[in-house]
Amino acid sequence: MDSVVLLSGGTGGAKLARGLADVCDDLTVVANTADDVDVYGVHVSPDPDLVTYWLADAIDERGWGLEGDTWQVMEALAAAGQQHWFRLGDRDLAMCLIRTERLRAGESLTQAHAAVVDAMDVEARVLPMSDHPVETWVGARGRTVPFQEFMIAQGGEGPVDAVELRGLERAAPSDAVLQAIALADAIVIGPSNPVISIGPILALPGLSESLRAGPAPVVAVSPFVGGRALKGPTEPFCEQAGIELSAAGIARAYRDVIDGIVADEPSGAAAELVTDTLMHTPDDRARLAREVLDFAASVGATR
Ligand code: GDP
Repeated sequence: MDSVVLLSGGTGGAKLARGLADVCDDLTVVANTADDVDVYGVHVSPDPDLVTYWLADAIDERGWGLEGDTWQVMEALAAAGQQHWFRLGDRDLAMCLIRTERLRAGESLTQAHAAVVDAMDVEARVLPMSDHPVETWVGARGRTVPFQEFMIAQGGEGPVDAVELRGLERAAPSDAVLQAIALADAIVIGPSNPVISIGPILALPGLSESLRAGPAPVVAVSPFVGGRALKGPTEPFCEQAGIELSAAGIARAYRDVIDGIVADEPSGAAAELVTDTLMHTPDDRARLAREVLDFAASVGATR
């Protein structure tokens, strides 16, 4: 496979991105930006950053931020009695400064994040899904709050009553995203949260149509391993959206855009690959990436 496009959130998708980088020539990751937040005077893009840090082999083992980062800025803010609810390591903050300076100079989010990718010495492209702001708001326990507040102040705990994607109707996929999709040999929907990571990408006006219009096969990898989400609040969001916590549930959720599904259990879909989808080690990630691309090629041949 020459050109592969991966749609991704920050954890499951990012791990698969790292595997794909080993086995394909030209990788473009389209990352969710509906979790972006402005804090401490900088623009933070959690999902594009996580993907970039995974691709740079620099992700910390806590699952976010940079390995071996220090916390002097957060400590100084705390000592000064300033709010520091959103934690950013010093080097992580430096990446956000690079992005923010470019945004202030009038560059697009796509251009600004490309500078972060460059700074991390990553070869693949990591494209924010849109240059327009889209914000996920979450209704839980009688209040509707921005996504990061739900995750950090409320611990990401369900039940979730509602999800709003604010700004969506005024947003569009960037030209770079549409071009990558049109030129791809395969499109992979990563094993990310289908509601708040992949959901905002697919909901962008025109994005799903572009997946159907292009020549590339579209395959999804289920984020459920042994019928459970491994990490994060995927389960309460799926429950709220009526998505069953199974390969069949994922196949149904993406039925309008996918040609096939990869999962660790049968899904009932006409085209499926049942395999081990756990990505603990570099070998796991590369093996799954290779199997996903072989599966996409076989699905593409019969499309
Ligand atoms: P977030 O933005 O950090 O919440 O990350 P994502 O939406 O990209 O990913 C969350 C999902 O990744 C969870 O539903 C996990 O089950 C899934 N995930 C994490 N690690 C793995 C893995 O090794 N294999 C698979 N199949 N899914 C994984």
